[in-house]
Amino acid sequence: AAQTEKHGFQTEVKQLLNLMIHSLYSNKEIFLRELVSNASDAADKLRFKALSDNSLYGEDGELRVRIAIDKDNRTLTISDNGIGMTRDEVMTNLGTIAKSGTAEFFGQLSGDEAKDSKLIGQFGVGFYSAFIVADEVTVRTRSAYESPEHGVEWHSKGEGEFEVADTQKSQRGTDIILHLKEDADEFLDDFRIRGVINKYSEHLSIPVQMWKEAVEEQKNDDGEVITPAQEAQWETVNSGQALWTRDKADISDEEYKEFYKTVAHDFDDPLLWSHNKVEGTHEYTSLLYIPKRAPWDLWNREQQQGVKLYVKRVFIMDDAEQLMPTYLRFVKGLIDTNDLPLNVSREILQDNKITRSMRNGSTKKVLQMLKKLAKDDAEQYQGFWDTFGNVLKEGPAEDSGNRERIAELLRFASTHTDEQTQNVSLDDYVERMKEGQDKIFYIVADSFEAAKNNPALEIFRKKGIEVLLLSERIDEWLMSHLTEFKEKSLQSVTRGDLDLGDLDDENDKAEQEKSEEAFKEQLERFEKALGERVKKVRVTHRLTNSPACIITDDNDMSTQMAKLMEAAGQ
Ligand code: ADP
Ligand code: MG
Repeated sequence: AAQTEKHGFQTEVKQLLNLMIHSLYSNKEIFLRELVSNASDAADKLRFKALSDNSLYGEDGELRVRIAIDKDNRTLTISDNGIGMTRDEVMTNLGTIAKSGTAEFFGQLSGDEAKDSKLIGQFGVGFYSAFIVADEVTVRTRSAYESPEHGVEWHSKGEGEFEVADTQKSQRGTDIILHLKEDADEFLDDFRIRGVINKYSEHLSIPVQMWKEAVEEQKNDDGEVITPAQEAQWETVNSGQALWTRDKADISDEEYKEFYKTVAHDFDDPLLWSHNKVEGTHEYTSLLYIPKRAPWDLWNREQQQGVKLYVKRVFIMDDAEQLMPTYLRFVKGLIDTNDLPLNVSREILQDNKITRSMRNGSTKKVLQMLKKLAKDDAEQYQGFWDTFGNVLKEGPAEDSGNRERIAELLRFASTHTDEQTQNVSLDDYVERMKEGQDKIFYIVADSFEAAKNNPALEIFRKKGIEVLLLSERIDEWLMSHLTEFKEKSLQSVTRGDLDLGDLDDENDKAEQEKSEEAFKEQLERFEKALGERVKKVRVTHRLTNSPACIITDDNDMSTQMAKLMEAAGQ
């Protein structure tokens, strides 16, 4: 018996629908990219499951997506013969948003349409984007694990509710039937649809097919056939060849950009990309992109990573965390290898020579690509740094093997300009070092202002020695793992026995010793008054304008680190 149930969408879905319909009207066509990409995912999932259970294919082994236009009924139907969904799956997948961090995302929305529409692009609109163009959506689906009488029909007008009913469906997979809104006429046009497919789905590894109209045979007066009769048939309209398997030289920038939008679900072009066929002990192809904008959940270290794993062109998994270190979690793209077994699991990936080698190779590629950008286009690099710099700063701690490579990519504010923009590289700094200077000096403080105005800088300013001004939360962590750069040690200026080496003139030293004698008694009184709160009070010649400053011993935790630990409840 067909059992129809009415359900309300999860609150977040209602919000998403509302937002999408009102902010994405200028970019309507993306609904097709999302639905075709879901169909392609469904085919990937079936192919993957069938690796261990070939019977899942049944009689229907050629996976494809079909798009049909019905002008009379104003519908557009996207059908796949992929994995399909059970009733339970329909309920969760098409009634809620299952992504982690959804609540935080909705917390970030401002009500400002322009801003929110950008955010929503980063969040990923997915299935619900159907309602950008449709006033009614029907989904008919049957799971590869169920028989034809266990099909499910889902229906909604996108207004807060949906219905679910049992149905009969002979073919495995999913049909998405969109009843188009009045202002979405353009998507009843065959040519327009082909254009969109061409733009976004050309390089999916699944054939996308459209119905080719039957053409009657026509003859001229002499009885010669001028238009051959054609059977109406499904015609594949994309190349169906995975982009990354093609030769680099034959792929245009435009193609790389559109492919990025499909894999990363981004609205914007990528900042840069790198496509590599690696041969040698291990063979693999990688296509790695750096986005222009940060995803909304960049700061969630558990967020899904953006690199997909393929084995022999078969999609294996999203977010294969073994393929990219956490500090490069903003990288999107894929790695395809012939060297892993098709039934590879996350457990196998974890401790695997091949994975390690692909990860090392890809990490180096990304660092190289960034280095090149920094060299070729400082302005673009600055944009990258402002967006992802703080993530990259996690690098020296996580990846000691690439510490020097990462260090070259870092940018800091410095007393050279006294501006807040982080645009000084360690190489710039080293180039400007004074005669006799053998260290790179820096200060870490709570804010840029506090760093810039710290009394500990006075002696450096007086002597014209540059100091890096660090004030991000991550900076203390960064500096505790970055003690050297090109054989020069990095030295905090708020550390105890600051040794300026050859930069300290003899005069200063003599002065210091003299003062120490002269102020001996006062120092003892200060120490007594401050008691437990300090370890030692001493005279310094480092200050020029301020009467006193707080410093830490070389082996002690810095004041910043102490604050961080305290905040973390330690
Ligand atoms: P995402 O694709 O990012 O997971 P979507 O909103 O596009 O998010 O889709 C939500 C979920 O609905 C998918 O994860 C998938 O489980 C299911 N789904 C959507 N379309 C299909 C389809 N054509 N076949 C099978 N499952 C689908
Ligand atoms: Mg999707």
